[in-house]
Amino acid sequence: MRTKFRGITSREVALIEGPAGWGEFSPFLEYSDAESANWLKSGIEAATSHDFPKFRDEVKVNGTIPATDSIEEIETLVSLYQGAEVFKVKVGTDLQTDLARLKQVKKLTPKARLRIDVNGSWSVDEALQNIENIYGEIGELEYIEQPVAELDSLKELKERLNVDVKFAGDEVIRKASDPFAITLDGAIDILMLKVAPLGGIKRSLEIAQHHNLPVVVSSALESAIGISHGLRLAAALPKLEYVCGLATGTLFTADVATHEIRDGAISLTSQTPNLEALESFAAPRERLEWWRERIKRCWEVLG
Ligand SMILES: [Mg+2]
Repeated sequence: MRTKFRGITSREVALIEGPAGWGEFSPFLEYSDAESANWLKSGIEAATSHDFPKFRDEVKVNGTIPATDSIEEIETLVSLYQGAEVFKVKVGTDLQTDLARLKQVKKLTPKARLRIDVNGSWSVDEALQNIENIYGEIGELEYIEQPVAELDSLKELKERLNVDVKFAGDEVIRKASDPFAITLDGAIDILMLKVAPLGGIKRSLEIAQHHNLPVVVSSALESAIGISHGLRLAAALPKLEYVCGLATGTLFTADVATHEIRDGAISLTSQTPNLEALESFAAPRERLEWWRERIKRCWEVLG
């Protein structure tokens, strides 16, 4: 990783080669087998299925700025997101630090639209205060992703908030035991879809259809192989009004393949890992055993 993100400095992934190409299995190491099973389903789908609708050849992407305090890191990242018109900034540290980060991004890209991701870390009262402060100092945001954690709190916040702002739901969908059984009315306006945690393209498309809300496809910090499956999901959606969060490859100093961002967009190409990269980044033997065991257990969960 170029910078610490989600508390990690390097990303470990398993790659699967199948008849339709390459898939990725990369749940975060602390995830349970039950939660990780969907990731395996998605990786197997990527390696075995071709037949997804394709409504576009390229997908517009946002720049992603981690919760860093380093001005240099922010400058480097902003410059790497070639032509991005939208930036998603991670917040939730503390209001002053969050504001400083947002101001820095705005200063570097005055024309860009900003969206923030709180990862559900505010209480309703904190969210009320922080959102008003951010609107006062930064101006309008495109949307706020998970200002609070639970569906009920999202509803309460929406009712009590004096500013007009859209909410995107990520954890409420991805961590739901049944994403088809939840009602999102009055809680969220935009559906955040991540192909791996949701069990693949087919299931993500069914979730999108079921909830009938505008969608943003985002990464789960996958390698370029996993990202290419996310791009296929974004291309398979008949309507895509918002740019997607699939440029997180920029957060890596090295990857097993590359996605070039051009004019704020990534083209859809089938991805094959670079053999040299596979060799030089291969995990040590004991990690291979760990992954094999994990795949076995997740396979059992899938039945
Ligand atoms: Mg999120």
